[in-house]
Amino acid sequence: MIMKYLLLFAVLFIAYMMWRNKRIDNGDAAARRGPAQRPLAMVSCQVCGVHLPKPDAVIGSDGLFYCSQEHRQRAGRQ
Ligand SMILES: [Zn+2]
Repeated sequence: MIMKYLLLFAVLFIAYMMWRNKRIDNGDAAARRGPAQRPLAMVSCQVCGVHLPKPDAVIGSDGLFYCSQEHRQRAGRQ
């Protein structure tokens, strides 16, 4: 009756491999989520062209984005 134990072992081994693969898949998914966790919209300053997150940008009266109040005013003067 050793075949019975071999079959049981095989089933347990397959179950273990599936559990392990599932854990690895979850890890990869978490790793992929990591860098994209903050899907910040990036905008570029109209004066110097620097890219910065939209929440950090200064929005001018013309609806354009600037990296700082200084550049917003500089653009207004031109
Ligand atoms: Zn700028």
